[in-house]
Amino acid sequence: MKEKVAKILSDAESIACFMHKNPDGDAIGSCLAIKNAFKEKVKVYCPGKLPEIFMFLPGAEEVVQFSSFSEVKPAQVFLVLDCSDEKRIPDFDRSKAEAVIVVDHHETNEYFGDYNIVEPERASTAEIVFDILKLTKKPITKDVATCIFTGLYTDTGGFKYSSTNAETFQTAKELVELGAVPWKVAVEIYESNPPRRIRLLAECLKTLRLFLNDKVAVLYVTREMYERTGALPEDTEDFVNYARGIKGVEVGVFLRELEPEGVKVSFRSKNEVNVAKVAKALGGGGHDHAAGCELNCSLEEAIDKIINLLAQEMSGGQNV
Ligand code: AMP
Ligand code: MN
Ligand code: MN
Repeated sequence: MKEKVAKILSDAESIACFMHKNPDGDAIGSCLAIKNAFKEKVKVYCPGKLPEIFMFLPGAEEVVQFSSFSEVKPAQVFLVLDCSDEKRIPDFDRSKAEAVIVVDHHETNEYFGDYNIVEPERASTAEIVFDILKLTKKPITKDVATCIFTGLYTDTGGFKYSSTNAETFQTAKELVELGAVPWKVAVEIYESNPPRRIRLLAECLKTLRLFLNDKVAVLYVTREMYERTGALPEDTEDFVNYARGIKGVEVGVFLRELEPEGVKVSFRSKNEVNVAKVAKALGGGGHDHAAGCELNCSLEEAIDKIINLLAQEMSGGQNV
């Protein structure tokens, strides 16, 4: 299938590349790797805003940020990267393309493309994009390597998560040899915090609550906290890791209020607990150890629902 997709991409006259909404380093890095490899014939689309911390990536300036799918121009191929289901690209209209290709590593992927490459055992979508680009025989430039490295680096939490294995380091080695500079990527992503983010973090940490024998830690951010600190939704990336990072905690949960209503939830687990199952039961998805969903209710109602489901899941319940 990868050979087939490599050929389709090489032969295509126009490619529109899509990332999921609230994009992370893997979604953005994967799309920009394609952009830097195939240049003019690729347009990269982001539903909503592209987080500022990723503007250092080559090609980021050219990403088209759209609020309505009517702004998306038809293309021969729609290439959807790191996205488990169509809902994560609002009003996705496949009739604007001759073929839809999905490349992803989510267990919960719904195989909504005409061609689907889904490899849940991979730590990032960017690595699969790397495989495909190698098959196209396009030279892997320093810019392409930097984009792929960023996807791999961020989706493994800087080589910390359980998805990190010998293959991850092998791929990272290849990318560094091709020109990616790890410390530069690290500084851009983890050491370029705007002060407003740190002020929001200070407010967020005060909300810490522990549940289920202190095995679940919950943190949240309200609309009012955003207003007080001048922070943006994208500034909460990784806040959930403060919840997971507590000794004895199995599951970290982070919630943020959405505009004008609703709640975005992030789950991170350490060992046994499958949070993708819980997120899926709430209409979302993700991986065993990192998952998310959106709920149309208040913060407190969301916390209630989540704790009830986690209680079942963590006692080995079958009803989730
Ligand atoms: P996040 O907590 O938003 O960083 O997401 C963690 C993981 O869950 C990522 O792999 C996401 O792609 C996935 N995810 C987050 N939100 C959703 C959602 N609403 N639907 C499906 N998957 C999601
Ligand atoms: Mn992602
Ligand atoms: Mn990913």
